[in-house]
Amino acid sequence: MTLFQIITAVRAGEGSESQWLLIVGDAKNLSGETECELAKMDFDEDLDEEVYPPGFKERGLYSTVDYQTLQDCIQWADRLAGCPDEAAACEVIRYYIRFDAWPDRLGAPDPPPWEETQARLDREFYDSLGQERPGTQCRREGCSGGAVVFSAFCRVHQFENVKKRPCPFAD
Ligand SMILES: [Zn+2]
Repeated sequence: MTLFQIITAVRAGEGSESQWLLIVGDAKNLSGETECELAKMDFDEDLDEEVYPPGFKERGLYSTVDYQTLQDCIQWADRLAGCPDEAAACEVIRYYIRFDAWPDRLGAPDPPPWEETQARLDREFYDSLGQERPGTQCRREGCSGGAVVFSAFCRVHQFENVKKRPCPFAD
């Protein structure tokens, strides 16, 4: 089957919630013509791995999202497109498989890599700590910084205290 055929089947209510979407190739290249299957997956508790239907692995199929998520992707795509739209459905499914999230619009760019997001959030948190107060010394031994408001630590040590990892900033 192709992804287009699967989208049509899901729209028609075919399939069941115990099924998964399996695709061939890099999700980045997923299109309506990509070879896909909708199949029930078993899980081998002893081997701690998924059990594929016969022949699936040989064809390069691997599991991506479950049936419910697939339905949600198609519904979300229809909402973004304003009507049932196969190309939009493909786009949202591809985006979801790659980034584990729904795009906020069609044609959305890839989200920034995780490191970039973390660096931005770190900076925002660091800035939110505010100024160090002169005359209120950081409790960390040997530190001469002033403590920030609502904390016994300076900015760097408050960051490390909360995030449990070294602070990448020194300003
Ligand atoms: Zn300190």
